[in-house]
Amino acid sequence: MNESKNKLLEPKQDLQFVKCALCGRDDYEVLSGYCRYDVKARNVVCKHCGLVYINPRKSKGQISQYYQQQYRRQYKIIDLESKDYRRANIALSGSISRLLLKPNCAVMEIGCANGILLEEMKKAKPDAEFYGIEPDLKLSSQARDRGINVFCGILEDYPETEKKFDLIILMHVLEHCVDPVIAFSKVRRMLKDDGFVFFEVPDILHPYGDLEKNFFQEAHLFTFSANTLHILCKLTGLVWLVEHIGSTLVYILRKGKIFKPQDIDFNKEGENYVRLRTFLRKYKAKFNCKW
Ligand SMILES: [Zn+2]
Repeated sequence: MNESKNKLLEPKQDLQFVKCALCGRDDYEVLSGYCRYDVKARNVVCKHCGLVYINPRKSKGQISQYYQQQYRRQYKIIDLESKDYRRANIALSGSISRLLLKPNCAVMEIGCANGILLEEMKKAKPDAEFYGIEPDLKLSSQARDRGINVFCGILEDYPETEKKFDLIILMHVLEHCVDPVIAFSKVRRMLKDDGFVFFEVPDILHPYGDLEKNFFQEAHLFTFSANTLHILCKLTGLVWLVEHIGSTLVYILRKGKIFKPQDIDFNKEGENYVRLRTFLRKYKAKFNCKW
């Protein structure tokens, strides 16, 4: 990368540099300088475990404020009141509701938006209790109007109680969390011993559209691969029953053994960063990007 481009990517004063959230190293290579909507934000890849993350980035307080006030207004691509969105959630509800094996299950959706998925699940399982976490004030209010018990805020600020859940859903949420290890450790604590976690995230090995103009988003603090997700699951004591690698990564998890960092070979078990960088360079060339 040349000097002038480096200058362009110099962080603003109010941004914070962070170490790799999985392996704790501070050795990375810059992949790109911009995200969707021409937002200047660097995605880097950890040279040790291959995790892709935004560095430097906003503080936790700024991120929390961003979700309360700006995020849903910035990302208007999905119309949450459209028939298509309802149809997609009816289909998803049909799949996920099958994980509710017992009567009177407790379901939590982290990032429940306006509560449409939970509303559809309620039709399938009327005896279950439905809870949500949603930072957007308007959407959390809409979800409450749909009969969902909603905490307005981000997962990190959700007060843990004795309440445990049979099913915790995170649809495209993990990549937004400030610290994925803290987030999944909390999810594990919120889960009943025989409960399930269902989640979906974008896959760095299956990007869509131009990397800088579309795929990388300011709000996605992390972009995982199956390998880096496996490390995350080991660190947080979650094991995958189902792993679906398609255009996105979809998992069903249960509680398992928590591995100590010293028992994980981050380099071998993670994403080979040189292979990933080569793949992304070739991918980026398709869109004639300057890099
Ligand atoms: Zn790392």
